[in-house]
Amino acid sequence: MKYISTRGQAPAASFEEVLLTGLAPDGGLYVPETLPQFSHEQIASWAGLDYPSLALEIIRPFVNGEIPEAELRAAIDRSYASFTHPAIAPLRMLGHNEWVMELYCGPTLAFKDFALQLLGQLLDYVLKRRGQKVAIMGATSGDTGSAALEGCRHCDNVDLFILHPHQRVSEVQRRQMTTVPGDNVHNIAVRGNFDDCQRLVKTAFGDQSFLPEGWQLVAVNSINWARIMAQIVYYFHASLSLGGPHREMSFSVPTGNFGDIYAGFLAKRMGLPVKQLIVATNRNDILHRLISDNEYSLGELEHTLSPSMDIMVSSNFERFLFDLFERDATAVREFVTGLGEKPLQLEAQRWERAREIFASHAVDDDTTCEVIRQVFESTEFLVDPHTAIGIQAARSCNVDRSIPMITLATAHPVKFADAVTRAGLAMPDLPLHMQDLMARSERYEVLDNDLGQVTRFIRSQL
Ligand SMILES: *Cc1c(COP(=O)(O)O)cnc(C)c1O
Repeated sequence: MKYISTRGQAPAASFEEVLLTGLAPDGGLYVPETLPQFSHEQIASWAGLDYPSLALEIIRPFVNGEIPEAELRAAIDRSYASFTHPAIAPLRMLGHNEWVMELYCGPTLAFKDFALQLLGQLLDYVLKRRGQKVAIMGATSGDTGSAALEGCRHCDNVDLFILHPHQRVSEVQRRQMTTVPGDNVHNIAVRGNFDDCQRLVKTAFGDQSFLPEGWQLVAVNSINWARIMAQIVYYFHASLSLGGPHREMSFSVPTGNFGDIYAGFLAKRMGLPVKQLIVATNRNDILHRLISDNEYSLGELEHTLSPSMDIMVSSNFERFLFDLFERDATAVREFVTGLGEKPLQLEAQRWERAREIFASHAVDDDTTCEVIRQVFESTEFLVDPHTAIGIQAARSCNVDRSIPMITLATAHPVKFADAVTRAGLAMPDLPLHMQDLMARSERYEVLDNDLGQVTRFIRSQL
């Protein structure tokens, strides 16, 4: 299987090449040239598999023999061995046919561990085989940074540079990054905001001449295809656990960069019987406005109680557009580069098709807190603000209460004290493996919002 760019002006690439980069050279995102298809019988035959065995079935065709099967299986096993729940992605019932899938049992307590643990294992294998070294560079508003550091710190051939906005991430989130041990782990606190961090990373990817000879940058945000691939698995796992593929079910997905829900879309395209896919957003609701009103326009970025979804333009949406536009890369390029001052619209037929695939709902901070409180009062289960948005969207958009509706619980509430406190509830304890977090020693470099300072620092560490 080859991977092609959504903008159609880059050569096709292998799985390994796609793993070791970020955007395609033409600025597009890589997608598989053809999507694997699984028959009803084939999916049904996986009913008894545990999580890693199922992951192997789903991931194998994407890797296309570039990693030997035994090595791939070992990488998957190691990726999920550190999860604290034996089911890896356990399901919990909140009400009649109302479920949440707990995706926060990994080392950093958010769903990003699913993909970044595997990314670290795959990078380790591929880089050792090639005798190559790479630098990972990523910007984070919280969850991605710690998951990337935990996933890749054991890789001898990788140095990690994670940029976070100085004094603008929560203390738990900062400590989850800055207390990770290892000579190859470098945290940079940028005197600026998240957008500044992201701009620095983007510019550095565009001109990598500051790196020593033979080095290249690898992306850890969800533009990296391997992240999407790993996330397809838990849609199949949830469905098989609740009687799929013999019955349909629906998923509600708290959405920021559109990576997680795009993985659900792919699961459906690959043959999983999925009824509704619900895009759940906070007040940064550009996707909800597009799906509900056919208006795609920038707004002012708002800071909410669900900071991991405070994103204006979702990068993975371009991957979906590529499909919606029937792989017309020119049309994709025109649409995504046309986003600016004035609002864009999809052609009526395309918009109708997008609405057949996705429902959407936007939730404000007050409602988020109300849902956290209501769910706790009715079930004694504490959800994080992102999950609460997913639950609310599921309840508002549900068109068939006779089938399971599964909300993806994307993070542990202990990471988001502001929302839990505002909901009037007590903070939970840190999980056992993190209980000394506040006492561990921190390491990070504070730098100006200045490309030269950042690249000089990186160079000095390699
Ligand atoms: C990253 C993140 C999201 C958004 O996921 P996307 O794949 O970017 O849409 C939602 N909730 C939490 C807790 C996250 O960390």
